[in-house]
Parts: sequence; C-alpha cells; structure tokens
Amino acid sequence: MTELEQRRRAVQTALTGDKPTNKADALLVSSPANVRYLTGYAGSNGLVLVTPSETHFFTDPRYALEASQNITCKLHIAKGPLSEAVSSVVKRKKLKKIGFEPAWLNLEQHQKLKHLLPLGYSLLPLPGVVENLRMTKSPAEIDQIRKSVRVNSEAYARTLGRVRLGMRERDIAAELDYQMRLHGAEKAAFDTIVAAGARTALPHAQPTSKRLEENDLLLIDMGACLDGYMSDMTRMAFLGTPTKRVQALYGAVLEAQMAAIQVVRPGVTAARVDAAAREVLKKHGLDRQFVHSTGHGLGLEIHEGPRIGKKDQTKLRAGMAITIEPGAYIDGLGGVRIEDTVLVTASGREVLTPTTKEFVHL
Ligand code: ZN
Ligand code: ZN
Repeated sequence: MTELEQRRRAVQTALTGDKPTNKADALLVSSPANVRYLTGYAGSNGLVLVTPSETHFFTDPRYALEASQNITCKLHIAKGPLSEAVSSVVKRKKLKKIGFEPAWLNLEQHQKLKHLLPLGYSLLPLPGVVENLRMTKSPAEIDQIRKSVRVNSEAYARTLGRVRLGMRERDIAAELDYQMRLHGAEKAAFDTIVAAGARTALPHAQPTSKRLEENDLLLIDMGACLDGYMSDMTRMAFLGTPTKRVQALYGAVLEAQMAAIQVVRPGVTAARVDAAAREVLKKHGLDRQFVHSTGHGLGLEIHEGPRIGKKDQTKLRAGMAITIEPGAYIDGLGGVRIEDTVLVTASGREVLTPTTKEFVHL
C-alpha cells in the first residue's frame, strides 16, 4: 500500500471506528492541505470525498491532465460546479450522512450542497479528522521537513552575510525570499518578518522601509515551503554592541527556549512544554512580556496541531514536528524571539534547525 493509500485508509477507519462523534457515511474534504495530504494534489479547486470503501477526487478541466497523471483514487473532472459532481456521487452511493470540514466549507458552499441533496440526507460538521492524522509525520514527511529547514537556514546565512547599516527591513525580507527560492524552496512559508530597532517589540511586524541603524536589534522570522512542507525559524542579531539590558533580555529568552526544548518528549503535554518556557521568563520578570504561545505544529501548513500553549493537553508523540519560540517584547526597548523547528523522537527530541543561537553582533 502506498503512503497516500495508508492515509486514506486511516480516514476510513476514523469514519467507521468506535468514536461515535465521527460516524458518517463519508467525509467531504475541502481543506487544500488535507486534499494534498490524501491525494498529492497541490492545485486549487480540488475536493475529496472519502467513503468507507473508496476515495473520490473532484476537480475542473483546467487540472484534468495533471490529475489524470497523478491521482490514484477515483477521478472526477467536473465541467460544472464541483458540488454538483459531489452530490451526484453521494446520491448514487446513497451516502446519507456526509461529514464536512466546518473550517473549510463556507456557508455558500454548504447551502448549495444542502440544496442539492434529497430529503433524508444530512451534512454533519466533522472538524479535525484529517488534521489529527497529520499531526504525526511519516519518515518521508520528516525528510521533507528536514530539507525545508536546511534551505531556510541556508537562505538566512547567505542573507545575514549581506546585511549592512542603511538597508531597509524590506530589502532584507526580499533577499531572504530570493535566497530561499534560489536554494530550492517553492515559496516562503509565510510573509517573512523582518523588524529592526524598537519595531522588534511587535511580535508580527511586517517589513517596512525603516533603515538599519547603529545599535538596532534585528529580528528575522522566516520559513521555507519546499514540496509543500514548511519550516520556521526566528533569529536575532544586533548592529553594534548590545547594552547589558539587551544582552540580559536575549539571555533570558534563550534560557526559556532551551528549557522548553529540554522538556519535549513523547507523553509530555503541549501545555507542559509551554509552562517550561513561561517559568523561566517569570523568573526573569518577563512573563508578562511573553504575549503568545510557545509554539505550534507545522507540516503542510505553517500552523497545525498541536498548539504549544497553556491550554493544549495534547500529549506529544514521536513524529510530531513543532516549533519552540518563546519571546519577550518591551515597548521602547525592543523584543527578542528565538525559534527552532523541533522533531519529537522516540527518545526525546531533535532540534532540526542547524543555525547557531549565539547572539550575533554585526
Ligand atoms: Zn516563525
Ligand atoms: Zn512559528
């Protein structure tokens, strides 16, 4: 059985298994990442219908050639709206209870589909069925993430060597994106974050035309997308010699990041990992400056389960890929965040990001 077939089989097991909340005659998959996970299809306008015995893929004639070469389940090229093609399979197979992904089927699509189904057929929200499977990565997926991480770090290293006083934040972001693509990424995993000076206190700063000045902190948060798989890293640099206060801030965040990484192992909850970072920052009087969660899963999407936050009781499992990225943000002074992509392994964890965490002074 191929890996794609195994994934589809796992969805079928989830639909027919002993978890009564998941019981449905089929699952309609409309999340693009979930469609890709189950079929390998990376285009737009694709839908998947998984029944206990079959998987159907629907797209439009623009993708007919690509789909006919790559799709290994039942292929439907719909000339009209995909919902009509889906409903005709649903009726033909008498699939009375259709699960759908509430985060990924909009109200208009839902109403259209509902309208097409006869009396006695129903649509049932089934969130997270495929996302749950995606949390644990296969060896092939882990290889993809490793490649993505490597390209990301290479692009960072090449760009850092070119950073000079007077460059604008957006010049650096453009160089990072260019270097990522040059080294094999198909795109950036998200809008590259570059912030300098006091703007580093904004956790998700979009790059502006601010120019690098003497004594600026520099925050770069970047990820590559390679064959669909994401990486994520944040590093800090300083233009000149940092003050004791900035050095202490950096030291505290690094200590928090390392403490959280040390806790990562199978069986530990995501919340426990988050708490490990928070405890260290509290010791340094910085817990209230840590305004986001410690990390997130990543894979075909940049943010997926588990969320490494206060409330997520998900137990870590070998094969999960997560980020560890505590930060502390001080208005007027600036912010520090340090982020690695980390793999949960049978014996603990492996930090995939190879880039040094020394506080670089440029
Ligand atoms: Zn990041
Ligand atoms: Zn992240």
